[in-house]
Amino acid sequence: MAGLSLRSVLLTGSNRGIGLELVKQLLGKSNPPQWVFATCRDPEGARGQELQNMVSKYPNLVMVKLDAMNPPSIKEAAWRVEEQLDSLGLNLVINNTGIFCNMSLATVDSEEMLRAYKTNVVGPMLVGQAFLPLLKKAAQGSSQNGLSCSKAAIVNISSFMGSIERVPETFSVPAISYRCSKAALNMLTLCQAPSYAEDGILCTAVHPGWVKTDTGTQAAHLPVDESVRGILAVLPTLSEKHSGSLWSWTGKTTPW
Ligand code: NDP
Repeated sequence: MAGLSLRSVLLTGSNRGIGLELVKQLLGKSNPPQWVFATCRDPEGARGQELQNMVSKYPNLVMVKLDAMNPPSIKEAAWRVEEQLDSLGLNLVINNTGIFCNMSLATVDSEEMLRAYKTNVVGPMLVGQAFLPLLKKAAQGSSQNGLSCSKAAIVNISSFMGSIERVPETFSVPAISYRCSKAALNMLTLCQAPSYAEDGILCTAVHPGWVKTDTGTQAAHLPVDESVRGILAVLPTLSEKHSGSLWSWTGKTTPW
């Protein structure tokens, strides 16, 4: 984990589950980032309690309000982070926010499809756009050659449920809105990669495994700390040749 050396990182959906564990493990590193921007929908409310408790212990942890379904809140979060960074860039954005609903084709409706798309695809796209100037600034200020997560990167937390090739093996859980929205998130990643490469920004998607969280349920195989250790071990190994692809928490490529 010492491999991921960066000044600043921003995470969405970081008040519980994988996002919260990412914050904890990043702050617990021997070389922690100078700034960890932990965003969530309701930083001052009960849902943000665990993060609030950590703020007094970690002066490098900053809680920021960001609702992926609310475009103005994404822009406001970017202004807040820019203000805090005081003319420096932002190295890494982890789009972790996600909602899951296991509806079949017989039951899913337009409302659920739109909710999933807004949260799982539109939100990450707007986050990428809003933080692009800060990511560009980090890339411009870096002396590193090539692309890397410690220079400037967008990591979209996706799912193998969005993999078209793997549908036969995953379709026992139909989750139509979830798998369609994650397939779209994968496409977004593929489009971000060449678009942002010229600005020095690496863009990739990561499947965290089937993880014991509210989304993954307690039936999942993988404890959240193990998944996050895996993700944080994979990130420093990524370079330009990995941009625009889907990786698993174990560092294996996963087919789209
Ligand atoms: P959790 O359900 O534990 O956490 C989801 C997080 O997303 C919460 O912090 C939640 O905040 C936040 N969130 C939901 N909607 C919004 C929104 N509109 N704006 C901002 N934040 C929001 O899920 P996981 O930790 O398991 O999932 C994290 C990511 O990993 C997701 O993208 C998920 O799809 C992906 N993933 C998870 C797998 C698993 O097995 N767990 C498998 C494959 C992928 P709040 O408390 O406010 O609701």
